[in-house]
Formats: sequence, structure tokens, C-alpha cells
Amino acid sequence: MNETEYKIYIDDVIRRVEAARVRVSSHHIVKIVAVSKYSTCDEIQKLYNIGQRAYGENKVQDLKAKSIELEELPLEWHFVGSLQKNKINNLLDINPSLFHALDSIELANELQKKLVAKDMTLDALLQINSAKEDSKSGVKPQNALEIYKEIQNTCPNINLKGVMSIGAHSQDYKVVKKSFEITYNIYKQLDNATICSMGMSGDFELAIECGSNMIRLGSVLFPK
Ligand SMILES: *Cc1c(COP(=O)(O)O)cnc(C)c1O
Repeated sequence: MNETEYKIYIDDVIRRVEAARVRVSSHHIVKIVAVSKYSTCDEIQKLYNIGQRAYGENKVQDLKAKSIELEELPLEWHFVGSLQKNKINNLLDINPSLFHALDSIELANELQKKLVAKDMTLDALLQINSAKEDSKSGVKPQNALEIYKEIQNTCPNINLKGVMSIGAHSQDYKVVKKSFEITYNIYKQLDNATICSMGMSGDFELAIECGSNMIRLGSVLFPK
């Protein structure tokens, strides 16, 4: 695709997001995080040129390499992957704008210690395994509210902003919808939460209709 064709292609994705969001309400604003994990810095630059500012990676070393290579651009970097304890310091050194995948009290406690040592804070989302799939990380939906409150009470350097979830891996629309509804229902019960991060390339319209206000789009924004 040349630049003009790519812009027309991306405009169509934006129209799909827009149509889904106004089906909820004209006041329902949805933020797009472009997940660039399978993409090069050149491809990120092309998407930046047509207006996209927020990018997400799922490996700390990739986040570091790309954020350094593109450091002259005013980009906002999100970390959307599982975080291993031995990578915490590397992630904090990049100072990402949002960590989407906080998935246990143990990880929160480790983060808290490192944040204190570096005298910094981190905005984060609690990941919920709404589809109850063993292959996915995240806390169990039935424990989510309690864990969220415990992290708020015991980890003052972590600013919890809401929840994140990956939709059920299923061809059945109703099963995917149910997993989004479970996440949204938890989100609604949280005081002061502002971010409900759910929806990827294959299911973002459904996620938005279930209340998502942050979608993480990879393949649909970076067609190969
Ligand atoms: C890769 C990834 C995405 C984007 O996936 P696509 O299906 O390519 O849109 C979103 N969220 C997370 C956590 C990911 O790892």
C-alpha cells in the first residue's frame, strides 16, 4: 500500500470505531492504542504521520528499543504484555504511560517496592481473565474487586485506572460478548476507574458496544 492507500485504509478502520462508539452514545469516547509488536519503526512512523499517537508493546525489550529509536516523536507508550518480575526495573526506566496487564497481588507488591526505590508512580490496569481460559493471564472475575481494592490500599505508588481484558477466544459471538460483559460489570463497580481496556482487531466493535473505552489494535492497523 502506498501512503494514500494506507490513509484510506486507516480511515475505514476509524469509521468502524466511530460507528461502534456512537451506537453506545455520542458521549462515549474510545481511545485507540496501536499495538505495534509485529511492526517496524518505519510502520509506526507511517501511522504516526496520519495522526496515531498511542502505541503498545508486549515485550519490555521491544518497548525499550522502539521508544528509543522513535524518541524524537511525541508518542505515548503503553505496555500491554505480561510482566516478569526480573523485567520490572527495565520497564520502569522507560516510564510507560500505562501498564495494562497487572495480573496479581504478588506482581503489584514487587512493583510497589521498585517504584518506591525509584521514587516514581505507575498508572496501571488490573487484568481480568473474564473468559476463564488457562492460556490467559489475569485475576479471576470473582476475585477482581477484592484484589483491586487490596492493591489500592497496599500499593500507593500504583495508580489503578481501571481494568483490562482479552476477549474469549471463540467463534461464538455470544461467548465473546459474555466475556466483555463480565469485565465491564466489574469496571462499573469500581469507584474512580476511568479506563476499560478491551477489544482487539477481531472483536473491537463488540467490545465497544459492551462499554470498552480503550481498544488495543494490532493487525488491523498494520496490514501486511
Ligand atoms: C497483540 C495484542 C493485541 C493486538 O492484537 P490484534 O489482534 O493484532 O489486534 C492487543 N492486546 C494485547 C495484550 C496483545 O498482546
